[in-house]
Amino acid sequence: MKPLSKLASAVHASSTMAIDAMAKSMKAKGIDVIGFGCGEPDFNTPDNIKMACIKALSENRTKYTAASGIIELKGAACYRMKEDLGIEYKPSEVLIASGAKHNVYLAIRALVDPGDEIIIPAPFWVSYSEIVAMCGGVPVIVETKEEEGFKMSAAALEAAITDRTKALLINNPSNPTGMMYVEKELRALAEVCIRKDIYIIADEIYYNLVYDGLEFVSIASLGEEVKERTILINGVSKSYAMTGWRIGYTMAPEHIIQVMSNYVSHSTAAPSTLSQYAAVEALTGSQMEVENMRKSFEVRRDYMVRRIKKMKYVSSLNPEGAFYIMMNISKLMGKKVDGRVIDSSDTFAALLLEKGLVAVVPGSGFDAPNYVRWSYATSIDAIRSGMNRLEKFLELVED
Ligand code: PMP
Repeated sequence: MKPLSKLASAVHASSTMAIDAMAKSMKAKGIDVIGFGCGEPDFNTPDNIKMACIKALSENRTKYTAASGIIELKGAACYRMKEDLGIEYKPSEVLIASGAKHNVYLAIRALVDPGDEIIIPAPFWVSYSEIVAMCGGVPVIVETKEEEGFKMSAAALEAAITDRTKALLINNPSNPTGMMYVEKELRALAEVCIRKDIYIIADEIYYNLVYDGLEFVSIASLGEEVKERTILINGVSKSYAMTGWRIGYTMAPEHIIQVMSNYVSHSTAAPSTLSQYAAVEALTGSQMEVENMRKSFEVRRDYMVRRIKKMKYVSSLNPEGAFYIMMNISKLMGKKVDGRVIDSSDTFAALLLEKGLVAVVPGSGFDAPNYVRWSYATSIDAIRSGMNRLEKFLELVED
């Protein structure tokens, strides 16, 4: 038989999903594994959102919608952006698609021709580089340092730009590091993007999960010159505990939205009609539950960071947003557990799963080989036990 597509065959399975699948299969066998792998809030979708879905269903809103989404949801997204971040968009500048992930895919699809480069600061969310490659583009990875808060400087961005660069892809606050670029840093990056004439794809899906009273600033709010070259990605999955509803949205100049909408009209078409109506309620209804969940995440983060600080061999920064902690395991490299050498974040994660019954994501998938990622989108009881197990596991390390 003839070979499959080279482009498609080169796509790797998602490492975050792989570890989650492994933990779930151990759980199914009755093994008491605690999972910190998945970036998915443990909270239920708030009741007002579920009721909006039920209402839409009873009104028989079960037909196709426009491929780019219902006008009510586009309006709701514009309203939320204005309320939360002070940015003005028109409904014609909005696309609704199946989760933030598909919006990222469509944005890259809209920009990239074969060989075009997209700059991605590392550590980065696992799907970014894969999506760029899936579109025939070239991910250009710019390493950042923990000492610099895992943030890319304007100088590093400029140094990575070539004639083939189409865009900077920035995730703020970041999965996996939890770190957040502040206004001054964003202005410096935006200035380079304008001067060098490259687009900005800004994935801000975690923007309302920010801690310590810090203020989030959207890169698109930094003036018209920035906004006109920014493709802003957002969604309801994380902030509203709606991962399974599959609603995300893009805000960008109309001509870009048009290209993305055309593409979507021939591939998935619009996401579920019921989910779209539920998302209208999420974005326009009470935001109290968002704040309650944010507060819970902050308590969990504080607890984990405090525990990790007290442990031997491992360390972490204090993440400012999202719900992830990148734990530095570089001091464990070359050491043994049960006679097996820890030679990578993959080995560490495998050993921790096997001996400690705790699932974390190896940093290798994020281009961060000396780290593992913990998601604290899980209950405080699970976090407490997980930290106890990590502490016990570290006692097994042979010096
Ligand atoms: N962007 C980032 C940075 C994410 O962490 C995730 C989820 N892990 C997504 C996008 C995808 O979100 P959705 O479930 O809405 O597709």
